Amino acid sequence: MGLLSLGTPLSWPDTKALADHVREHGITQFLYTWDRWAGRKGEPLLWGDEIEYIVVSLLDDKKRASLSLRQSEILEELKNVVGDLCDEQPEKSMVIPTFHPEYGMYMLESTPGCPLGPHLKDLVGVEANMRFRRKLARSHLRPNEVPMTITSFPRLGVTDQPFTDPECMSVADSPASQSLFVGKGVTNPHARFPTLTGNIRSRRGSKVAINVPIYKDTNTPSPFVDPTIPYDRQLWPGDSEAKNGAAKPDHIYMDAMAFGMGCCCLQITFQAFNVDEARRMYDALVPVAPIMLALTACSPAFRGYLADVDARWDVIAGSVDDRTEEERGLKPLKNDKYRIPKSRYDSVDCYIANDVRNKAEFNDISCPINDEVFQRLRAHGIDEALANHVAHLFIRDPLVIFSERVDQDDEDSMDHFENIQSTNWQTIRFKPPPPNSNIAWRVEFRSMEVQLTDFENAAFSIFIVLLTRAILSFNLNFYMPISQVDENMHRAQKRNAAREQKFHFRKWVFPLGKAPAHMDCRSRAASPNGFRTSPESTENNSSSVPHSASTASFNLESDSKCTSPSTPHFEVDDETEEMTLDELINGKAEFPGLLGVVNAYVNSLNVDVATKCDIRKYLNLIKERAAGKLVTPAAWIRNFITSHPEYKHDSVVSEVINYDLLKAIDEV
Ligand code: ADP
Ligand code: MG
Ligand code: MG
Ligand code: MG
Ligand code: MG
Ligand code: MG
Repeated sequence: MGLLSLGTPLSWPDTKALADHVREHGITQFLYTWDRWAGRKGEPLLWGDEIEYIVVSLLDDKKRASLSLRQSEILEELKNVVGDLCDEQPEKSMVIPTFHPEYGMYMLESTPGCPLGPHLKDLVGVEANMRFRRKLARSHLRPNEVPMTITSFPRLGVTDQPFTDPECMSVADSPASQSLFVGKGVTNPHARFPTLTGNIRSRRGSKVAINVPIYKDTNTPSPFVDPTIPYDRQLWPGDSEAKNGAAKPDHIYMDAMAFGMGCCCLQITFQAFNVDEARRMYDALVPVAPIMLALTACSPAFRGYLADVDARWDVIAGSVDDRTEEERGLKPLKNDKYRIPKSRYDSVDCYIANDVRNKAEFNDISCPINDEVFQRLRAHGIDEALANHVAHLFIRDPLVIFSERVDQDDEDSMDHFENIQSTNWQTIRFKPPPPNSNIAWRVEFRSMEVQLTDFENAAFSIFIVLLTRAILSFNLNFYMPISQVDENMHRAQKRNAAREQKFHFRKWVFPLGKAPAHMDCRSRAASPNGFRTSPESTENNSSSVPHSASTASFNLESDSKCTSPSTPHFEVDDETEEMTLDELINGKAEFPGLLGVVNAYVNSLNVDVATKCDIRKYLNLIKERAAGKLVTPAAWIRNFITSHPEYKHDSVVSEVINYDLLKAIDEV
């Protein structure tokens, strides 16, 4: 959740009044960082994941699985343990994981503790690190508590039975969210979180309103009007909203930040060689984000019902949507400055690289910018693409300001910049270097849902890191219209998207002018016009993973689907086509597939067979899931629910079904 400064949060009116102050100083801070870092290069690949857990309390006598609201105690204990481990092993290079607070009081976040390195063995080591983290967390919980990597808790916010442990915390009593379903007990009490929740509601002018289509089973009433919503409650001003149309028929209605920010995900951050590489990497990953969302889908149930979606994205987007009616286009602009098409939590709106391949026509959706900020950045010599990106982030207001942090030394702090940046939750994040540290330009991949097992989480982490290496080494071009990326985001969340949807993607991904004119994919490796490392890449140390491949075979496996590509000369209109996930990952015709380029990259490395075999084990998961031979966690969970003997084909995930499901997941 970004930074957790301590202090006294200002009221919403006081926060709003300081918005320009934060934006102005935020840009000053960014410019200081820019001046310090813009010319620097030669940073090694360092990377790390973030995994979020839901701590489930299994009450066997009641056959109930609840959310354990003990984050603060658990973190306190883990802090001591981690401290002890560090004291015991000061000389060993063993990495001690770290645990962080999260929005939900039932959540934990863990990271490796220190960034991982660039070698294949570092990649392979991530699973052991993840297992260690889970074991560490688990061994400091109560015997009936389990840290689970599930994306959404199926019964968060039900009104028929308690869903928290302790039970009394299931009461919806939160003045910050005014939710009909969840109380203050589910939200981390650190001032930042309730303040965020309350200020989003205040800024928007109403509660957030999330409506996820319900999965219509044979016994689901049609139209479905949720009988469990307390429509007539009169506790807070927002209580009448559900009755007055915020809760839509045929949907699962949710009205609080907790429903979205209470979901768990898997994020990967990696450091780039220099700022230009970070920007190219960012752009290349933009079209990959929806693909990976579909492939990792893990959230088919919300608030006690099966949904007609498999993934969390729109739920989180809705859960922090602070836009006013004017900004949403429901009223003419009067008090607000911009029409804003998306929530602050949503997919990327513009590419950012200074690259001829980043053509204007690919940036084809509305991307309002803060003109003043744009002019300031341009005047400082920052190019248009990056200025545009930052100016777009800076159309937003700060949501939480601590009175103690209003005045900062801009040369020494990035707090005001991060205030805006860290509440722009997009699929990819471009992370500038923090002040007073060696950490350089980084890119974060944020779309993936967390997987049930560490093996899967490791596999997806490894895949993404290797994909970034392949993109750089082969100088791949993934540019496509952002409108099509957004269309893919919608498709990626649909029920069974991994099997049933097609996704737009760029047909020809190899560098222009370097297209091999004939041959099967294997001979590309020997082609003098083959795929070279980008100039920046070759400057780097060739012994490490990121920059050692200069040529490669795209035909790792004997059953390659590659055939002769024709010389590509596409107009924008036909630069992309729709592909299944199998085609996108495993390749077809002249399209090598994302796994194809990863395999080629791995093959090009001079490492021992055993390590390659280790890597292959993880990559096989990606391959088989994309091919449909393995199902997504969402499909597995959905199937478990619908084939449970107690399931009445009415879309309801009852307490017993939920309990059996979580027991089964724990056994996995
Ligand atoms: P946030 O919550 O802001 O996204 P976290 O600090 O929780 O970030 O996690 C960032 C991840 O980046 C961690 O896995 C960490 O190991 C990793 N990391 C730390 N330093 C670097 C670095 N210099 N380069 C790349 N990754 C890093
Ligand atoms: Mg987190
Ligand atoms: Mg984090
Ligand atoms: Mg975070
Ligand atoms: Mg963050
Ligand atoms: Mg993160």
